[in-house]
Amino acid sequence: MAQPDLQSRLAFTLRSAGLLEWYVELDDSLSDGQATVAVVTHALDACALGSTSLTEFLEHIHPDDRDSVAEHVAITLSTGDEVRFECRVLVDESSVQMVSVTGRSTAHPELRALHFISQDVTDCRRSEAIAEGQMRALELAVAGAPLTEVLVELTRSAQKQSARTVSAAIMRLDEDGRLRFVEASSLPSDFVAALNAMDAGSDGTTCSVSVRTGKPSVALDIGGDPSWARHRDKALEHGLRACWSTPILSHSGEVMGTIACYSSVCAAPSSLEQQGITLLANTAALVVQRDRANRARLEVEQKMAANERRFKGLVKATNSLVWSTSPLVDIVESQPDWNEFTGQTFEQSRGKGWLEAVHPEDRPELEALVEEMRSVFANRRAEYRVRQADGQYRHMSGHAVPIFDDHGNIKEWSGGLTDITDRKQVEHRLHHMATHDPLTGLPNRIYLNEHLRELVNFIPENQQLMIMLIDLDRFKEVNDSMGHGYGDVLLVQIAHRLREALPSGDLVARLGGDEFVVVAHLPDGARSAERLASDLLRAIQVPCDVLGTRYYPSASMGMCLYPDPDTSIDELLQHADIAMYRAKYAGGTGMRFFSAEMSIESKNRMALELDLREALERDEFVLHYQPRICLDDDIPCGVEALIRWNHPTKGLVSPAEFIPIAEATGLICKIGNWVLHQACQDIQQLTARIGTELTLSVNVSPVQLKSPMLCSEVSRALQAAGLDTHRLELELTESGLIEDTDTSHQLLRSLGAIGVRLAIDDFGTGYAGIAYLRQYPIDVVKLDRTFLCPTAKSDNCLDFIKAVTEMCHSLGMRVVAEGVEDADMLRQLMRSTCDEAQGYLFAKPMPLDKLGDYIIDRRAS
Ligand code: C2E
Ligand code: MG
Ligand code: MG
Repeated sequence: MAQPDLQSRLAFTLRSAGLLEWYVELDDSLSDGQATVAVVTHALDACALGSTSLTEFLEHIHPDDRDSVAEHVAITLSTGDEVRFECRVLVDESSVQMVSVTGRSTAHPELRALHFISQDVTDCRRSEAIAEGQMRALELAVAGAPLTEVLVELTRSAQKQSARTVSAAIMRLDEDGRLRFVEASSLPSDFVAALNAMDAGSDGTTCSVSVRTGKPSVALDIGGDPSWARHRDKALEHGLRACWSTPILSHSGEVMGTIACYSSVCAAPSSLEQQGITLLANTAALVVQRDRANRARLEVEQKMAANERRFKGLVKATNSLVWSTSPLVDIVESQPDWNEFTGQTFEQSRGKGWLEAVHPEDRPELEALVEEMRSVFANRRAEYRVRQADGQYRHMSGHAVPIFDDHGNIKEWSGGLTDITDRKQVEHRLHHMATHDPLTGLPNRIYLNEHLRELVNFIPENQQLMIMLIDLDRFKEVNDSMGHGYGDVLLVQIAHRLREALPSGDLVARLGGDEFVVVAHLPDGARSAERLASDLLRAIQVPCDVLGTRYYPSASMGMCLYPDPDTSIDELLQHADIAMYRAKYAGGTGMRFFSAEMSIESKNRMALELDLREALERDEFVLHYQPRICLDDDIPCGVEALIRWNHPTKGLVSPAEFIPIAEATGLICKIGNWVLHQACQDIQQLTARIGTELTLSVNVSPVQLKSPMLCSEVSRALQAAGLDTHRLELELTESGLIEDTDTSHQLLRSLGAIGVRLAIDDFGTGYAGIAYLRQYPIDVVKLDRTFLCPTAKSDNCLDFIKAVTEMCHSLGMRVVAEGVEDADMLRQLMRSTCDEAQGYLFAKPMPLDKLGDYIIDRRAS
């Protein structure tokens, strides 16, 4: 045994140097050569051990280090060599001290003993544990290890650096305000399950306190700590008595989670321990932040990838190709979509090579666009045709978007091409349907207008265009009498003939009904226009067999030329129309060139038409009466009512001027009714005044004859005036009879039946023969004055009049000669058996007030 005083001195010296001494003496009396340890100084200071057996001594060594310490003791005893090792000494229930030990056997020859000197290296090792933990964690994080793996390193260091036996765990604060364990490998699993996802705002535990305050928080004794009320039992069940929680703060101070150490004894961390944990929490912050950033980036990448997949799917679904080019719109890298679609190799499409796959007609426009894209960076759209790998062209709709880098410089152009061929075809079909007449297949008015507008822009200098309007003659009659099916077949044949007769560059369109328009180029001006018109008329006039019936078509044509000082592009059709109506008025089957005078006339006519619509309301019509003289006794036996229009500015307008307009507009029916009522009243009034019963003739237009209301209107007029039915005579024209519809036929019979007399006016100007008239209940025939005109005053003419008169008489009809102007004519008539005469020779048409005096005078003389 060493001397105590020496020992004490030595111990003191050692202690002052921070060292402790152990003394191990071999007690041979003990079996198995076990050493008795006499730990003198150490026993006094650290573990309060006195002399004790080696086994007992080892119990004060950390269980993990026990074997190693026992081994070192054995080696030193047997070899006498110096040994060095480190181990943890259990200071009390929860504290541990890390010591570094140097030992050797004593030099005393009789004393088999060992002499160890230990040094407390706890603080040093703690710092090392922290540094090492941080380093490992950062290395793992940089290497991309999973977060939990990284955090395990930190909790391990937290445990290692602690002077006590602690279990460390890390929780993450999620966006929902809940704390979730991310590393709790050293905690019991049911404790973890109980605390996991606790609400940091309301749920207890030291961790939620540190989250709320953003500062380290200590529960010295979980058993009495109010913050643990909820989870206390669970903690105590596992012997967890104290909890020290330190928040993990981001660089901006935001709490991201906590690192917590659970101790099995009620204790607070030393300031060194707390510092260590704070360092680890800072490292955890770095790691968690990095993990967050990684996860955010990953999320963005995943979203982008998903978007790209979706976009690609969409692009595929819309039949689109995606491409990208350099800022100069050059292809610089392979474009799989484009190459697959066009069959071009990358080399072929490189640079501007891709333009080779664009339809030559569309290329100039696209090249201009590309040129512009090199300097103006804005979104573009264009439609053009692209040649497919199989050589077919497809209509594509392209869009291009400039892509800029972070500095706002253009990086590339990118865009897509969508196949719109189907849409184009539908559009084309729709356009064709909208611009063509379904019956004849000819272009329609819309097409014609478009065509004219385009044509006038491209017409070469010193070349003229002819615009011709063709209207078939009497087509309406054909349609009415033969039916629409017949009319349609006829129109198709005429359309075909016109198309055939025209040079290929010229256009024929159908405006509707029986109206066609020809737009032709005139190589040598107006003369070629006439030639072409004659050719077309000849082509039309070829007789045709329609549904088994022979038909002789004819047409009226109006033409105008372009350019022409009197005609603007908008007026072309209008002028051709005016000229066509001139041809029609002149009897049809012919052509007319438009002239400025025609336009004036037509304008006047239009102005007149407007006024005419209001003339009735404004009471501007008046009736004049022309007497009819009975040739037997030379006295007036009747009067013809002739309408005049007392126009506010033009004065008295002749019926020859406005009746055709009234007929064309349908106004004639209203006007005709007014004439009937007014004339019946006038004549009844005259009879009352002069006592002579005269026959009243009223002219009835063919248009009125088509109205089934005419008969009732006539009866109403007679009734209203109190005039006897047999005193009224209606003058019908031959054309009115020839337009022999069922209605007019029926009407004439009804009129005859009520006793109204019927006369044929202007007989001899049309084609109706007397025999034709036999089918109608005609009472009077009025011979047109052209029969009696001076040139017709030959004997032949007289014979003709005599023949007609006799024939009429034989059919029970009276004959009236119209337009008798001179006595010579009258004498001639007297030699025939003509019944009455009417004309300027006797009296011009006159107002009612003059008529009474005229009749009285005439009867008196
Ligand atoms: P119209 O029924 O044949 O009438 C005879 C026309 O010959 C009248 O012309 C009359 O003034 C004219 N006239 C009579 N005697 C002579 C003569 O000796 N020499 C010449 N050169 N002419 C003579 P107006 O009044 O200008 O009427 C023209 C036509 O207008 C009429 O021909 C008739 O068809 C139509 N018209 C007149 N009034 C009416 C009417 O109320 N309703 C309808 N629908 N037509 C009417
Ligand atoms: Mg008449
Ligand atoms: Mg007449």
